[in-house]
Amino acid sequence: TNAELLSIIIKCVNFAAIKHKDQRRKDEQETPYINHPIGVANILSQEGNIHDPVVIIAALLHDIVEDTNTTFEEIENQFGTEVCNIVKEVTDDKSLPKAERKKLQIQNASKKSHKAKLINLADKLYNLRDLQRAIPVGWSQDRVKEYFKWSKAVVDGCRGTNFSLERELDVIFAERIAQD
Ligand code: NDP
Ligand code: ZN
Repeated sequence: TNAELLSIIIKCVNFAAIKHKDQRRKDEQETPYINHPIGVANILSQEGNIHDPVVIIAALLHDIVEDTNTTFEEIENQFGTEVCNIVKEVTDDKSLPKAERKKLQIQNASKKSHKAKLINLADKLYNLRDLQRAIPVGWSQDRVKEYFKWSKAVVDGCRGTNFSLERELDVIFAERIAQD
């Protein structure tokens, strides 16, 4: 029912807020990290026109295993197998070196499920907008440029998934190329 779904969404936002509570974004203002997963879910809902609760819940949890002490078992127990499997799909293997993880995101993008691709698109859209807003602490212009290039490669693997999100990403890539 509607009431049950609303209850699960609120439980999920609360769970994520508690888990990410000590984490900050890389900007000068040290924005609370939870703004990011909530913002990714918001992009999917408001701009992607996605109303599948499984996608919204997985978006709220998309960085929680990568960045906090949360386990997949916990996700599965709290939010079910389908959500857990999507979170698995969008979680990098932290046992691998950073450069390898970034390469794998490009190589694996097109093989992911439709729901995982939606989250990848919204995640990249949020992070690129964040980069346009403010350069993270300690980043050179070169590093920002590299990040745009890498993001475009990942997004290219996720194409044919959501027209609005891909159009918004293309606006950003076009602005970027005009600038370079
Ligand atoms: P990181 O992966 O370390 O940082 C980018 C990630 O940080 C984003 O994907 C996002 O991930 C998160 N994030 C947090 N705050 C912000 C914010 N305000 N704006 C945007 N993103 C934010 O950086 P890189 O992608 O650069 O990865 C490191 C790689 O960079 C290494 O492989 C290394 O080779 C290279 N490197 C390059 C340098 C250069 O000058 N060219 C210098 C140093 C390293 P999330 O969605 O998970 O929150
Ligand atoms: Zn993210």
